[in-house]
Amino acid sequence: MDFHVITLFPQVCRLYTDSSILGRAQKDKKGKGSKVRGKKIAVNYYNPRDFTEDPHCQVDDRPYGGGPGMVMKALPILRAWQKAVGRKRNKVKIKTLIMSPQGKQFTQECAKRWARKYDHLVLICGRYEGVDHRVKVALEAEEVSVGPYILTGGELPAMIITDATARQLKGVLGSSSSLEDTRPARPVVYTRPAKLKFKGVIHEVPQVLTEGNHLAIKEWNKTVVKNNFQ
Ligand code: SAH
Repeated sequence: MDFHVITLFPQVCRLYTDSSILGRAQKDKKGKGSKVRGKKIAVNYYNPRDFTEDPHCQVDDRPYGGGPGMVMKALPILRAWQKAVGRKRNKVKIKTLIMSPQGKQFTQECAKRWARKYDHLVLICGRYEGVDHRVKVALEAEEVSVGPYILTGGELPAMIITDATARQLKGVLGSSSSLEDTRPARPVVYTRPAKLKFKGVIHEVPQVLTEGNHLAIKEWNKTVVKNNFQ
């Protein structure tokens, strides 16, 4: 799948998507324990500032009807979209999303569905008071929110959606067993050392996990879920 992020701050996002699992998924490398070869994803960035036509490279302007703040201009974003996916053939499946606090709540279900259905995901990051509404209309885009709070920009939401959707794609995670639903099968995890001392208190790993009896471990995990998360 190709992700196309339209943002005024590509350098901030690129650091994230070039790291760790998403970074590896963009290279021609096999993941640890994965049988899928080749690139699994591409993440491309487009800065609306590069698509302006005035000498000042203006990407925002005052809102019609008055009121505080600035609004992101439509044309630089529309041109960036054209560059990203405008020339794709008809059969290619494209979904365009606008990051917006009043959009539909993004969920694990969206991540799964989009990973299954689309070849290209375009993510438009707003700043200031948001994006000229004509972008939504012209691109038949969907507004999505990552939660009931207001951030200063759409970059973090775009990263959340890219991350959650990418890990649903075949071969992105090392082994498919890590691909859990909203609640992990191992809700509580430990690693070495088995005994650690902090502020004079010794914290131990539950004995059952150190003994290698897989059936007992499975039962123990179930009990933890039952006692803590239901
Ligand atoms: N006054 C505006 C605030 C926009 S916040 C309003 O109330 O709608 C600036 C940008 O941050 C938005 O355009 C959007 O792209 C992004 N943003 C902020 N909170 C978000 C959220 N919860 N989910 C998705 N995008 C968000």
